[in-house]
Amino acid sequence: EQLANQIAAGEVVERPASVIKELVENAVDAGSSQIDITVEEGGLTLIRVTDNGSGIEAGDIATAFQRHATSKIATSSDLFRIASLGFRGEALPSIAAVSRLSAVSSTETTGLAHRLVIEGGEIKTDEPANAPQGTDMTVRDLFFNTPARLKYMKAIQTELGHISDYIYRIALAHPGIAFTLKHNNNTLLRTLGTGDRLQVIAAVYGTNTAKSMLSIEGENPDYDLRGYISKPELTRANRNGMTVIVNGRYIRSHAVNQAILQAYHTLLPINRFPLVVLELGMHPSLLDVNVHPSKMEVRFSKEAELRALIEQSVKAALGQYRY
Ligand code: ADP
Ligand code: MG
Repeated sequence: EQLANQIAAGEVVERPASVIKELVENAVDAGSSQIDITVEEGGLTLIRVTDNGSGIEAGDIATAFQRHATSKIATSSDLFRIASLGFRGEALPSIAAVSRLSAVSSTETTGLAHRLVIEGGEIKTDEPANAPQGTDMTVRDLFFNTPARLKYMKAIQTELGHISDYIYRIALAHPGIAFTLKHNNNTLLRTLGTGDRLQVIAAVYGTNTAKSMLSIEGENPDYDLRGYISKPELTRANRNGMTVIVNGRYIRSHAVNQAILQAYHTLLPINRFPLVVLELGMHPSLLDVNVHPSKMEVRFSKEAELRALIEQSVKAALGQYRY
């Protein structure tokens, strides 16, 4: 009930980037190998996410837009999935309630598809269509019927910043998926989906940066980690360049960031920060996941051991580099 109220208050769909996050995570969960994101005016006039994933059965599309009706979580035993999915079957109905949304989806390669159009939560069209296998979610005029929310939107560049920041990180988390991000006809990101994370780092941060990354590796009986950290001459002025992935999902973790910086700052000034992409693998039972509508918190049950492993591995990575 509390969650429902928060949704009513418009907290779930906070801004265009939150819509993109939900649509893209659904596309990832559908097993897509290609995900294309198109945005206009910072996402306020248009957000379109197309994927080549499993698709939604014609008879299930309308249900997917009913609150609580469907959630992947109900059938999932993997606790970590809860963290990744955020709103437990709330995302699509919440987005459809505050936009003009068109969903076209097909589970087949025959071209037979289905289209649903919903405006402000009201179904306008529910009909057969033609489309390749996968799903095309088009969200227009976000917050058209919630002017109070619309008023809170910042400049287009600010909204775009939130969107691209999220897409860069989800692309870094899934090097096996080919992503494109376009804004007002400019291509901001194109990854190849080859599985090579350095290629994604090159696409996001530039080829020269990718070339000068040092690799991080480490493991103990509970955790394994691998990734990249920038050479000391490539320091950054803030910590925005730190991306942490846990069991294949992009998360935020203060504890992990602190452990990385602890090691980094034994070598470098405390007002300088690295570019890092670090992937951690562990049994889901070692994760304590707390989900709020607007944020996700992850705790690790053997945090001290994990921090020690991270510090040691980051120091070893930086030690590869000779001044
Ligand atoms: P959740 O992801 O928590 O299950 P959502 O509201 O985000 O809830 O989505 C509802 C359901 O719609 C999903 O469980 C899934 O079955 C289906 N769905 C949504 N987007 C896609 C997609 N891109 N491809 C395949 N199925 C999708
Ligand atoms: Mg979802």
